[in-house]
Amino acid sequence: MYIEMSNEQIHGIIQDSLIGYNYLQEISLAKRADLMHAIADSIDALGEELITTAQAESALPIPRLQGEKQRTINQWRSYANAVRKGVYSEARIDKGDGASKADIRKYNKGLGPVAVFGASNFPFAFSTAGGDTASAIGAGCSVVFKEHPGHPKTSQIMAKAIVDGLVKFGAPAEVFGYISGSSNAVGEQLVVHPIIKAVAFTGSFRGGKALFDLGTQRNEPIPVFAEMGSVNPVLALPQYLEQNLTAFASQYISSLTLGVGQFCTNPGLLLAIKGESLDQFKLLLAQEIAKVTDAVMLHAGIAKAYSEAKSHLSNQSDVALLGDGISTEESRAVAAVYGTSATTFLGNSLLGEEIFGPTGLVVECADSEEMALVLGKLGGQLTITFAATAEDVAQNKNLFTLAQEKCGRLLFNGMPTGVEVVYGMQHGGPYPSTTDSRFTSVGPDAVKRFLRPLSFQNWPNEFLPEELQNENPLKIERIVDNQRTVE
Ligand code: NAP
Repeated sequence: MYIEMSNEQIHGIIQDSLIGYNYLQEISLAKRADLMHAIADSIDALGEELITTAQAESALPIPRLQGEKQRTINQWRSYANAVRKGVYSEARIDKGDGASKADIRKYNKGLGPVAVFGASNFPFAFSTAGGDTASAIGAGCSVVFKEHPGHPKTSQIMAKAIVDGLVKFGAPAEVFGYISGSSNAVGEQLVVHPIIKAVAFTGSFRGGKALFDLGTQRNEPIPVFAEMGSVNPVLALPQYLEQNLTAFASQYISSLTLGVGQFCTNPGLLLAIKGESLDQFKLLLAQEIAKVTDAVMLHAGIAKAYSEAKSHLSNQSDVALLGDGISTEESRAVAAVYGTSATTFLGNSLLGEEIFGPTGLVVECADSEEMALVLGKLGGQLTITFAATAEDVAQNKNLFTLAQEKCGRLLFNGMPTGVEVVYGMQHGGPYPSTTDSRFTSVGPDAVKRFLRPLSFQNWPNEFLPEELQNENPLKIERIVDNQRTVE
């Protein structure tokens, strides 16, 4: 249920986000971290209503939502802890000599108010109180969140929890603004507003690209960090395939159908080399997928898009159905695996497009050179997975090298679904998986997106931000006169 806001109301909320931004810029890093923990406490205190509302709006199972709530809280806490340590301040101090050599000191500060758009498939972790909101506030930026049309009531409950946390902490409510309405125009108004200095988005390619174009074509262009998903190729190399036929078929189908395939890291494309092992593997895939029962998708629009994309794929020439899952009701999503040849794939660009849901495509390549051609044809990916032995990789260094150019996270075995919230995570790859491959939207490093460097030249100590003062009151890691110092 939308809360329909007028343009004036939306404008007022965006304008007020400056109050929140100025507050965040004035408080210490330690206080900012405490504020983030206060928001985490407030989310933690939310009861059953949050879970049951999200379940009703998204059709996601209760245990999954309970886990996602905990993940969301952990995101706030881990980002807060990184902020407290000054991990993102990158303080650099070149002391002057009081004469000809100037005193020059640099640190990272917040960009300004940030617009955040959530995704339908993670109503907590990538939505209202998700990683983008937590990382923007961690960078000292206020947030204006655009309500998600797929889970408006869930968004409203989360928004209230954030504001309650802020008020209890003694911070202005304007640190977090919330806007809503029933058309794209609401989000567009947000992105073009001159107060907004950056945008974070997770969702469809169409939505992300539209908002990227708007943000970068403003009179004052701003960065738009859009995460738009990918097909996440799995490269099944010969020795591994031969040694792991049954286990790998089951592992692949589990990952492909996990969460009704509604993950941006869903492994929608599997490349393998022709031969007896692959023939057996395809039969095993068909057996495994035949065990998967159809399921309800996030909302009717996504279900319709999935069904249309699947039927479009099956209508392409030289694409064959290898097997599909159990169908019980027309409105539910049926899992499927299709197969085609590398030659067909290379001649039809539609086959490399993401199908958001539990459908995979196996591409048969003549040899590793042809596999490299298929990989080379693909756009940037969030992940690429090698299903390989070390020997397989050693014999196919060309694929290993090429894959590094194409993705943000390269896996050696395992499956790409499941994105850990850790420092080492890179969730973001070359375009079109995201609009800026230099940054991640998961893990504490997500904070970096909303910072810019600022140098102070020859300023007296008392005017400098705490990160740059002589005494290092925060005891953070800095580079002082070319020496890395840890206090
Ligand atoms: P979406 O349709 O792209 O919407 C995400 C957010 O952006 C919503 O708040 C939406 O609100 C807004 N928006 C979309 N297009 C816009 C435009 N042109 N101008 C202004 N605002 C716009 O994504 P979704 O709802 O999460 O899922 C739909 C599709 O996205 C799926 O079918 C799937 O293909 C893809 N998806 C990708 C990921 C991923 O991780 N990359 C995750 C989930 C879904 P309004 O529509 O109200 O304006």
